[in-house]
Amino acid sequence: MSDESDDCLFCKIAAGDVPADVVAQTPTALAFRDISPQAPMHVLVVPRAHYGDIAQLAAAEPALLADVVALADEVAGDLADGQFRLIFNSGPRAGQSVFHVHGHVVGGAELGWTPA
Ligand code: C5P
Repeated sequence: MSDESDDCLFCKIAAGDVPADVVAQTPTALAFRDISPQAPMHVLVVPRAHYGDIAQLAAAEPALLADVVALADEVAGDLADGQFRLIFNSGPRAGQSVFHVHGHVVGGAELGWTPA
């Protein structure tokens, strides 16, 4: 795990230092609504510990990635119909803008498929 960065927004949200609309949490992970929702349900799931992207998290702590995925499933069951898309942008060209790994949990409607 990298040290928490003073500049990491999602570390601050996980620590409760920056407000967020938290919908679920566990000892290892947190789920909060995206401030710019792109679907009826659009929640971000993050590990409390700081990893830059999904590959770094998977390599270092696969059980923690599993915790994040399980939290996404729980949130989709609570807020939608249990069906969801889980998106991890990895790298700026893929659309990653916050470099603390996070999964976008989207659903609550029929989803199109327009990744590009
Ligand atoms: O995948 P990407 O890094 O672009 O996703 C970052 C997401 O974090 C965006 O969807 C943005 O709306 C969200 N965000 C947020 N709360 C903030 C800042 C960003 O939900 N305070």
